[in-house]
Amino acid sequence: MTTLHDIRVSNANRQVEWTGGKQRPSLSFRGNELAGEVGEACNILKKIERERMGYPGSRATVEDLAEELADVVLCVDLTAMEFDIDLGAAVERKFNKTSEKVGLESRFVIGSAVDSEELEYLRYFFQTADFGPAHEDVVDIINERYRKDTGKDLPEGYRSDEGEW
Ligand SMILES: [Mg+2]
Repeated sequence: MTTLHDIRVSNANRQVEWTGGKQRPSLSFRGNELAGEVGEACNILKKIERERMGYPGSRATVEDLAEELADVVLCVDLTAMEFDIDLGAAVERKFNKTSEKVGLESRFVIGSAVDSEELEYLRYFFQTADFGPAHEDVVDIINERYRKDTGKDLPEGYRSDEGEW
C-alpha cells in the first residue's frame, strides 16, 4: 500500500530529476499546478455527469478521474514539500479538529503496522537503489527530510557513515 511517505520520497526524487537539481519551482508555479490539476479532475467529473444526464458531448471514465485525482494528490504533496509539512500529521490533526468542531465521534485511524516482509523489502531497496548521477543528492534530501519530518535520526543500518549506502 502506498503511503504519504512513499509519495513524498517519490516526489522528492523526481523533482531532482525533473529540475536537474537546479532552481526549485516557485510557489506560484506550485499553486497554478495544483489548481490546474483540480480543474482537470473537475472537468472529468463534468463529463461523467454529462453522460449521466444524457447530454451530448465528450465522455470520460472513472479511470480518467482516478488519473486526475492522483495528479491532485501528487501536487498537494509537492506543495506541502516546499514547506516541509508532514502531510500525514496535518491530515490527522485536521480530520480530528473538524470532527471535534461539528461534534462527531469519528477520529482519524492510524494505519496498521507495516508487516515484516514489507520492511525487509524496504531495507533491501534502500541498500541497493541507484538513483544515477544524482544518487548522493537524492539520498541526502531523503535523509534530511526524514530527520525534519520525524525529528528522529536515521535508523541503524541506514546512516551513510555506516557504509550502507
Ligand atoms: Mg492531470
